[in-house]
Amino acid sequence: MSNLSGKYAVVTGGGKGIGEAIVKRFVDDGVAGVAILGRNLDVLQNTAKALDPDGEKVIAIKCDVSDEQQVAGAIKVIMDKFKTIDILVNNAGITKDSMFHKMTNEQWNDVININLYGVYHTCKYVVPIMREKKYGRIVNITSISAFGNIGQANYSASKGAIVSLTNTLALEGGIKNITANCIAPGFINTDMYKAVPEEIIAQHVKRVPLNRLGEAKEIASAASFMASDDASFISGQCLVISGGGSI
Ligand code: NDP
Repeated sequence: MSNLSGKYAVVTGGGKGIGEAIVKRFVDDGVAGVAILGRNLDVLQNTAKALDPDGEKVIAIKCDVSDEQQVAGAIKVIMDKFKTIDILVNNAGITKDSMFHKMTNEQWNDVININLYGVYHTCKYVVPIMREKKYGRIVNITSISAFGNIGQANYSASKGAIVSLTNTLALEGGIKNITANCIAPGFINTDMYKAVPEEIIAQHVKRVPLNRLGEAKEIASAASFMASDDASFISGQCLVISGGGSI
């Protein structure tokens, strides 16, 4: 268990999948408050209620992270409620796969706008808060696809850029006691992965030494560690969690 007592967190895409597992783990690890952002308010509210029946710790905020004004508004709501932000987890992400030579501008733009601009927008509004308080933990969820993957030029480009952005935030934030790290999951059993055809899943599993898909909670445990003070001297790192496998 990590200790997150007294800490206030923001988790984008916290309503389901890996994000939901991170929020659950944060609550189990004693977080003081966690705001979950996503486009589907019903999903967010159901998750908040399930993890925090008394409605004291988990707040659901409808927010499309690709829209800067919505992010600015969400951060204002969070600051009004929590008064501070200690932890930012950028987890929201989508795929729109296609071979590069067939990829449409819409597929390219949608993925870059959500996956990369989403991280830019939250960091734009949260980093100044962290710099002011001289404390911050940024955990960005990238992917082993960051290193390139067939059919995922848009997604790989977005996830690779997140690694570069995170390293820069780590370099610039260190002096203000802000750490920034990435987690690069392999094949994890969530709705996103369920879109993958069965024969491809079988091929993926063959490339995983542990011989199975990962579970969302296996990403959440690392996210909680990186968000905690147990990881206070870890910054600018990208932790691959893939059962030992690669693309
Ligand atoms: P899911 O599809 O289960 O969840 C994605 C989450 O992102 C949802 O909560 C969704 O909420 C949110 N989201 C998507 N678009 C937006 C948006 N514009 N604004 C706000 N929230 C948004 O996928 P996973 O849990 O599997 O993925 C979580 C992260 O992990 C992603 O960044 C993904 O790239 C990464 N990852 C996943 C892997 C896997 O195998 N599953 C492997 C490697 C990385 P809503 O729809 O309500 O907006």
